[in-house]
Amino acid sequence: MKKVVFFTDENKIGEAFNNFNLKGFTHKKIPFKLHMGEKDNKYFPKTKTVKKVVTILKERKIKPYLFDTTVMYQGQRHTKKGYYELLKIHGFSKKNIGCDVVIDDKGIPVKIDGRDYEVAENLYKSSHIFAFSHVKGHNATGFGGTIKNFGMGGVTKETKHKMHHGSRPMFQKDKCTYCGVCAEICPFNAITVKENNWNQNIDKCFGCGVCVENCINQALSHKDADIQFVLACSAKTCLQNKNVIYFNDVNRIARGCDCDPEAGPVICPDIGYLVSDDPVAIDKASLDLIYDIKPNVFEKYNHVNPKKQIMHAENIGLGSSKYELIKV
Ligand code: SF4
Ligand code: SF4
Repeated sequence: MKKVVFFTDENKIGEAFNNFNLKGFTHKKIPFKLHMGEKDNKYFPKTKTVKKVVTILKERKIKPYLFDTTVMYQGQRHTKKGYYELLKIHGFSKKNIGCDVVIDDKGIPVKIDGRDYEVAENLYKSSHIFAFSHVKGHNATGFGGTIKNFGMGGVTKETKHKMHHGSRPMFQKDKCTYCGVCAEICPFNAITVKENNWNQNIDKCFGCGVCVENCINQALSHKDADIQFVLACSAKTCLQNKNVIYFNDVNRIARGCDCDPEAGPVICPDIGYLVSDDPVAIDKASLDLIYDIKPNVFEKYNHVNPKKQIMHAENIGLGSSKYELIKV
């Protein structure tokens, strides 16, 4: 059965929400999951839009609180203290937005497909969740929307590290033609290929898996699994058996993620906002709307096919990629 995705502009977000039965969400404290931007990133969600959505939810007697987790890499969001300091600069405060803001890194173990994940306690313990996902590019997954918001952003930094680590390349000498493609496209300059020598600087490798995806000779394979697969599984650990309303902000579509201080340039004009109760349908609709204007733009900039995360998510039962788009 086709899922419904509502497509709207800034003025009709409330009308789009009216298509959902929000009764179960009322009078409850609901985590409002969003990425509030890394230091120096210019494209993260606008406080004005977040405030608008929070206000719409509060008008419907819902008690949202902004929620995010800490990150694995060394940056301001690596610790709760650092993230809270950054939020003051980015304007995500109770005074500005109208609700509490919580950063936490406690996790609850959940197993999927034989792998262990640690879901953020705030998400795990809540029967209802509101998802605010900014759609943009990403150097490991091609693009990031709802699946990425939860698959990476809804789990502890130990789980984030495990997913990246498992996507690092294993090298098979007898299959390598020393073409140099992997070295050329590695976003972290972690590979060098000279004559008949292939070398990897493990300290520079971020585990994005882009080199594996682009080696046509199968000389590289993932240490554990493709990050787009584990990301879909990880998103499922956060979202399974929950009541969730998904909101995708398909604007300021930069090449890189909101966690990247150098995420530019913007690679597609602003599109609008999508609302759905299906995490896969909303990401597929976001991607389709972008590709209608800029075909394969994420492959062009990030050398990764972003449809893989949607396909994996659908295969593991997270949602449906078949949808009907309704303009509000
Ligand atoms: S892309 Fe593959 S074949 Fe080419 S140098 Fe890298 S590992 Fe070797
Ligand atoms: S996994 Fe990513 S960072 Fe690591 S070597 Fe491959 S392309 Fe470079």
